[in-house]
Amino acid sequence: MKAIVTLNAGSSSIKFALYELLGDNLRFDAGGKIEEIGTAPRLRARNAEGDIILERDWLHDGGISHEHLLEDLFAWAATQLGDREIVAIGHRIVHGGQNFAAPRLIDDALLEALDALIPLAPLHQPHNLAAVRALRALAPDLPQIACFDTAFHHDLSPLATRLPLPRAFHDQGVRRYGFHGLSYEHIAGRLREADPGRAGGRVIAAHLGNGASMCAMREGKSVDTTMGFTALDGLMMGTRSGALDPGVVLHLQTQVGMSAQEVEALLYKKSGLLGVSGLSSDMRTLHASEAPEAAEAIDLFVRQATRQAAALIPALGGLDGIVFTAGIGENDPVIRARICENLSWLGCGLDAEANARNAGVISAEQSRVVVRVIPTDEEAVIAHHVVDLIKAEGSAFS
Ligand code: AMP
Repeated sequence: MKAIVTLNAGSSSIKFALYELLGDNLRFDAGGKIEEIGTAPRLRARNAEGDIILERDWLHDGGISHEHLLEDLFAWAATQLGDREIVAIGHRIVHGGQNFAAPRLIDDALLEALDALIPLAPLHQPHNLAAVRALRALAPDLPQIACFDTAFHHDLSPLATRLPLPRAFHDQGVRRYGFHGLSYEHIAGRLREADPGRAGGRVIAAHLGNGASMCAMREGKSVDTTMGFTALDGLMMGTRSGALDPGVVLHLQTQVGMSAQEVEALLYKKSGLLGVSGLSSDMRTLHASEAPEAAEAIDLFVRQATRQAAALIPALGGLDGIVFTAGIGENDPVIRARICENLSWLGCGLDAEANARNAGVISAEQSRVVVRVIPTDEEAVIAHHVVDLIKAEGSAFS
């Protein structure tokens, strides 16, 4: 039987999944995550029933490389395959630039073009591409497919992509792209199932995890989004600042004397919930803390999220639905309730009991705006893209 592997390789984690290909259909077989790469990597994999089938810790081996971990993962996958044969690997690639709006079979030319986009996503793209290269070395003949996080936003209007800078910068690629596209594609698909005609109409999808953004969708299509040129823009995140007065960056460099690298590390890795709380980037840890700084970090997260959501309304011309997804969005009734309370003037009210149990629809019956919780599944989106490409380019995979 044929099988497909999906990989989402980041700076400190690698997510993976194995799907069986049954005709045109996919069946999730197993998946998991290696976390805390660089400090104390740990691997957990689960089967389709949710049982843990592999646990591994590298407690004293914080320096183990991504390549080495992928090699271990691949060796384990080989022992799990039985009569299944991996026919392709799908990757989440954070940046597709202006040219790549659909999944692509990776070849040398594409890799080179994606390397050229590294300056636009310096903290994500190198890890995505390193995983592609590591697997090419391990299995040179296995087709690998790139699925881009920017692609869902590719049809944003020209105005929505433009930054108010001199035109020449836009032409060099300094423009708004948008990210978390694979997650939003999944949400759009689920909304289309729930409401085949309109995909929920005018919707704000809120991807609230370690990385966080929002997407204004009209009938399942992105019309605006909070992340722009980089994945640093928009909402306050676990360790990222989100949107900031650009004057702050100038101040840090010219008055405080920080180097560009120091500012980059500050804004990507030391800010957001971690920076404001001085305690943790993890929402659960902050809820559990009695420190006033933890409470203030949560208050600011809610304030910034509300502000960003409200800023998307003009692109929609009103609001019919809100969707919460990712770690915080799927699991945190308190944050959802506080954001919705702040947006109650738009006509959204929650059913407290449904919200408390993370139900699929958490708005009250009389709420004009339908509020949903939809678990994200970027791996499934990647796997489906791989199947579509296999069908379209059958000969390349035979
Ligand atoms: P993600 O990047 O999607 O894995 O999301 C990670 C974030 O989700 C972290 O801030 C976690 O604390 C948060 N999270 C995960 N589970 C819960 C939960 N049950 N309640 C609140 N936050 C959660």
